[in-house]
Amino acid sequence: MDEHKNSNKFLKHKIGIIGGTFDPIHYGHLFIAETALDKLNLDKIIFIPAGIPPHKNQSLITDSFKRVDMVKLATKKNSNFEVSTIEVNKQKTSYTIDTIKELKKYYNNKVDIFFITGDDAFINIETWKKYDELLNSTNFIVMTRSINNSKLLNEKIELYKTKYNANVTKVEIPILEISSTDVRERIKKNNSIKYLLPEEVEKYILENKLYMEQGL
Ligand code: ATP
Ligand code: MG
Repeated sequence: MDEHKNSNKFLKHKIGIIGGTFDPIHYGHLFIAETALDKLNLDKIIFIPAGIPPHKNQSLITDSFKRVDMVKLATKKNSNFEVSTIEVNKQKTSYTIDTIKELKKYYNNKVDIFFITGDDAFINIETWKKYDELLNSTNFIVMTRSINNSKLLNEKIELYKTKYNANVTKVEIPILEISSTDVRERIKKNNSIKYLLPEEVEKYILENKLYMEQGL
C-alpha cells in the first residue's frame, strides 16, 4: 500500500520546506512544521538548514554541521520530517530560489512545493534574491509570529497575490515567543532553556558548550 497521504496517482505529492539558520532549532520551528503538515495535508516536511544565510552575520553563526546535527536530533522521532544538507554542502551563500529550483529538478517537477515561513521572514521577502519569481513559482505557508505584524502581513499577502499571482496561505497559530536569539541569550546568562527545545538538542548544546561565549 502506498504510504503517502496523496496516494491517488493523479495528485501530486505535497512537500513542505522549512528553511532557516536553526541556530539552534527550537519548538517554534517544529510547531510550525507540524501545523503546516496537518493543515495543508502535506506528505512530508524537509528542514533545510542554511549554509551561509544571506541575512545573517556569518562569523557569528554556529558551524553548519553542528546546526545540522541539532536539526537531525530534533526531527528524528517524527517520520514525516526529513533534513536536507543541500544548502550547507554548498559552502557559499544559499538562496531559496536556487534551492527550490534544485528540489523541483530532483523530483522531476512531480511534486508541489510549499515553503513555510514565519510572518517576520515573509514580510521581508522583498530582500530575497529573485523574490518576484519565487512568489510566482512557489506556494507559501505563512505562520503568525507576532500580532504586531498582522496588518502589514495581510497587506503584503494581498499585494503579492495581485502583483505576482502568489499562492499564499496564512495560518494563525498561538503566538510562540520562542526564538533562537532568545535561546542563545539565555545560555549566555546561564538561564534554563528547558521546554524551549527538545531535550536531545539541549543535551547536545551542553555537551558541545555552544553559545556560551560567542556573540549573538
Ligand atoms: P533567530 O532569532 O536567530 O533569527 P529564529 O528563531 O528566528 O532565529 P530562524 O532560523 O531565523 O529562527 O527561522 C526559520 C524560520 O522559522 C523563519 O521563517 C521564522 O520566521 C520561523 N520561525 C522561527 N521561530 C518561530 C516562531 N516562534 N513562530 C513562528 N515562526 C517561527
Ligand atoms: Mg529569525
